[in-house]
Formats: sequence, structure tokens, C-alpha cells
Amino acid sequence: MVELKNVSYTYPTGQHALDHVNLTINDGEFAFVVGTSGAGKSTLIKLLLRELTATEGEVRVNGYNLNKLKQRKIPDLRRTIGVVFQDFRLIPNLTVYDNVAFALRAIDAPTKYIRSRVPYVISLVGLAAKAKSYPDDLSGGEQQRVALARALVNDPQLIIADEPTGNVDPARSYEIVELLRGINACGTTVLMVTHQHDLVRYFGGRIININTGSVIFDEVIGGADEV
Ligand code: ADP
Repeated sequence: MVELKNVSYTYPTGQHALDHVNLTINDGEFAFVVGTSGAGKSTLIKLLLRELTATEGEVRVNGYNLNKLKQRKIPDLRRTIGVVFQDFRLIPNLTVYDNVAFALRAIDAPTKYIRSRVPYVISLVGLAAKAKSYPDDLSGGEQQRVALARALVNDPQLIIADEPTGNVDPARSYEIVELLRGINACGTTVLMVTHQHDLVRYFGGRIININTGSVIFDEVIGGADEV
């Protein structure tokens, strides 16, 4: 669960990025976050990951009060969140399998668990046949599926997808959102930041529109795929 109460953030330069934002995203929800460049979307994500701390107000994520979270507890918070970036951020000299296994090895997960969990999430994103490929040999859409598998491998409570379709062929963008929706249907909360209004219109659901640091629209709309 994500909860922002009266949250403001001002950069050290004096630039106000978020202005008294109130927002609750319950466990199991899927929400799109939209807004023009400079609206405050990245700042919001950085607050949720505790890369930044609110200047004012209270931020809670997955049971952690981020205002009070000690530095040494930040990795615990981040293990409850899977993040997918626009630019994939895969390790080029590791195979698809090893890119996904990396996150589990980093936390010393048991080998037996890694050997069952990694193929499972790779097949979940439809890439079982590419497990031994390297990122450079995959399309943008496929690379983003690997990034999605990597975000999922720790079984996070929340997935934050920051413009996940920005570097993906438009036709393939829909498949990435379908995958995120499938993950959401299995219980994971999903927050997806996007510029692509066509995707939002097509899928519908909860749309949170941020403009100059404020939430100006937060409603559930019907999608074209439901008609
Ligand atoms: P978005 O992700 O919606 O494009 P941001 O959260 O990056 O918006 O930016 C919100 C506001 O904060 C903008 O006015 C931007 O110029 C400003 N901003 C972003 N990062 C910094 C920074 N590191 N230092 C100062 N101002 C920043």
C-alpha cells in the first residue's frame, strides 16, 4: 500500500516539485500516473523508493513509514518493490537467465529456490526460449520483458514501472501493459507512469494526473478493451 498525506517536496535549489499531495493506492490496485514533463512524476517515484525524503507530510509504502525509516532499513523497503525503467537497465554481459537471477543471488537466496524461481518468472513473461540470449540480441519489447521478470523475481508487493513502454515499439507497448495487468491480477500492486495517452485510453482503470506538483485528476475510467 502507498499512502501520501499532505506531501510536498522542494529541491535544494528551491524548486517546488510536489505540493501537498494526498494519494492512497491500496494493495492489489493498478494505477496509471500521467502528467506532462516536469509535473513531478519522477519526484513521486523517488519519494516512494526513499531516494528522496518528503520536505513536508508523510509517506508510507508497504508498511514502512518513510519519514522515520533508518538508512540501514532502506534495503528492506526496496526489497518489497520491483522497479521497471524506461531504459531497461539490464547487464549486457549476462544472459537473460543471469540478469533475472542476479537480484536473488544478491540477497543470497538458496540455489534450489533460484533454480525454480528464475525459469518460472522468465516463462511468465513469455521468454522461456530466450533464457540463454544476451540483452543485445533481443528486441526492445523483449528486453523490457526481461526487466519485468527481474522486477518480479523477488515477489514484490508493489511494481513501479517508470515509462516502461518508452523504448518499446508502439505495437509491443500493449503487450507490456497486458503483462503488468496479468501480474496485477495475481495480487501485485502496480503503479505505471506513462506519457502514452493511447495506452491509458485503451486499458482504462485508475488514472492519476499530476500537474505542476499537484494531483489534478484521480478517477477510474472505462477502457476501450472492455467495450
Ligand atoms: P516529471 O518526472 O513529471 O517530468 P520531475 O519530478 O522530474 O517531473 O520534476 C518536477 C519539478 O522538479 C520540475 O520543475 C523539475 O525541473 C524539478 N526538478 C527535478 N529534479 C530536480 C533536481 N535534481 N534539482 C532541482 N529541480 C529538480
